[in-house]
Amino acid sequence: MDNCIFCKIVAKQIPASVVYEDDELLAFKDINPAAPVHLLVIPKQHVATLSDCTGEHATVLGKMLALAPKLAEEHGVAVKVDGNGARTGGFKTLINSGPDGGQEVYHLHLHMYGGKRPWRGLG
Ligand code: C5P
Repeated sequence: MDNCIFCKIVAKQIPASVVYEDDELLAFKDINPAAPVHLLVIPKQHVATLSDCTGEHATVLGKMLALAPKLAEEHGVAVKVDGNGARTGGFKTLINSGPDGGQEVYHLHLHMYGGKRPWRGLG
């Protein structure tokens, strides 16, 4: 879509630090990270917000979410379970939707945050 910064990243018209790519998805490092690991997962096909998604987007939304733990593993922030069943590590996933949801870029994206806390502006 014209004038969409994330479509331009998909089209390689502007640079991004890409960490994953397949036919449907792209993941890259957030340019202004709020946590030691801060990645964005986007669908290559433009859709502005989660509110614009329909049942037709269910598969790609599922793939976006399913990519998060794989990226967490690759970036050292996966949830681990020790021999006693205690969990360590972990990450946060977030989709901002619309102005009151804090969305600034109108191309659907899943934030993935991880690493040593505190994280800027996040609970
Ligand atoms: O959810 P929201 O729309 O507020 O987040 C947009 C995110 O896109 C911001 O975290 C911003 O740093 C990131 N961004 C980026 N690369 C760009 C433009 C924005 O990583 N070229």
